[in-house]
Amino acid sequence: MTASLIDGKAIAATIRAEVKSAADRLRDERGTVPGLAFILVGDNPASQVYVRSKGKACEEMGFHSVTERLPASTAQDDLLSRIESFNRDPAIHGILVQLPLPAHINEQTIIESIDYRKDVDGFHPVNVGRLVIGLPSLRPCTPAGVQELLVRCGHDPAGKHVVVVGRSNIVGKPVLNMLLQKQKGANAIVTVAHTGAGDLVPYLRQADIVVAALGKPEIIRGEMLKPGCVVIDVGINRIPDPSAKNGTRIVGDVHFPSASTVASAITPVPGGVGPMTIAMLMKNTLLAAEGILYR
Ligand code: NDP
Repeated sequence: MTASLIDGKAIAATIRAEVKSAADRLRDERGTVPGLAFILVGDNPASQVYVRSKGKACEEMGFHSVTERLPASTAQDDLLSRIESFNRDPAIHGILVQLPLPAHINEQTIIESIDYRKDVDGFHPVNVGRLVIGLPSLRPCTPAGVQELLVRCGHDPAGKHVVVVGRSNIVGKPVLNMLLQKQKGANAIVTVAHTGAGDLVPYLRQADIVVAALGKPEIIRGEMLKPGCVVIDVGINRIPDPSAKNGTRIVGDVHFPSASTVASAITPVPGGVGPMTIAMLMKNTLLAAEGILYR
């Protein structure tokens, strides 16, 4: 292996420590304790795990948090009225409705019902629009984590050619919009590839930085990359592994063994982008509580 490892766990721990001390100051100086409300509809096991670990992170930060668990049969109007009561609650600065939602609930309607100033996931159209035009906003956590990783480990994207693979509203598009801005920690030349690209190799071969967010296990292999590039692997895929205790293991969208012999730096999966997502959620909750983004 030639690539150095980008340690998302360590960088996330640093961000959490920074958020904690800023939150302590906010409490001491203004008497404000950041508050985050989680709403979980149904009993999707992965969602339960995510909400539990986000709640634990809130505890570590000294934040106030509440978790509302609603049955899968909850009517959309009932969910909307829960959100409305959190919108009005002054002790709650952030609202996170864990996705995916049951099929009878319209996700976009739910996202748009959250007060954009409390939208710590950064999915509300007001925040999406502000991100696109370069205004301060609550920004989606995973893409913001990708940018922080690059900057904090000395791979500032400025002037670099970044190839993002994947164009989802949750990862690919916000990564594009963050790294494209004429701003500190951005100013990159960004290409976004997707299924319409056909062969990814001509794009990947030109990339100084690859952000893989396609949701397919180990598709991007070392031989497809430009030697010396930096690889940020957002993917989380569970694949069968008879040698593992539970018969499965987690891999990224990048084939780590081959990519790490070609890249100069690479994120592991797990332990790369994953821990950054929760750290950035804590940061967003702090920003929402400080109330300075939309003045
Ligand atoms: P989506 O499935 O919503 O989007 C995948 C994107 O990748 C689509 O734009 C799709 O193209 C594109 N794509 C799929 N296959 C190919 C291919 N063979 N070649 C080129 N493009 C392809 O996924 P998400 O964006 O939600 O998530 C991406 C990955 O990141 C997943 O593994 C997910 O688990 C992980 N993730 C990790 C998080 C973390 O905290 N670390 C948080 C969120 C997601 P098209 O638009 O043409 O269909």
